[in-house]
Amino acid sequence: MTGAKNTAATMKENILKALEFPRHMIRENVDLLSCRFNGHYVGELGCKLCNAATECKWLTQHDEFSNLARKPLAEVGEALEFAMHFVEALVMESDHDCEMCRCEACHWLRGARETVAEFHHVSSGSSS
Ligand SMILES: [Zn+2]
Repeated sequence: MTGAKNTAATMKENILKALEFPRHMIRENVDLLSCRFNGHYVGELGCKLCNAATECKWLTQHDEFSNLARKPLAEVGEALEFAMHFVEALVMESDHDCEMCRCEACHWLRGARETVAEFHHVSSGSSS
């Protein structure tokens, strides 16, 4: 028997693992040359005018050192959803056929979509 708690723990583990790939991908795609803070999100005031602010905020809040594992499932789930949209946008820009393509990004995307769907299923089913 698998209780709801178990499902949530496994799910969180899957999400944490899934976050590794987009972390690298987002980092590579943020233009740090023009960033005064070397990609470290400093808040609305400092980053307001930068068009990479959303990405830097995500990276700063969800990097390897941010104790992600201790954050609630809802938060890591949202982090994955953001990452999914980011990778989706990148992949579409370069005209991949996500359903068929064998590149790492598309492969990741297919897995992430499943995980995000599962996450929605689990979080709508629990009484929180
Ligand atoms: Zn691809």
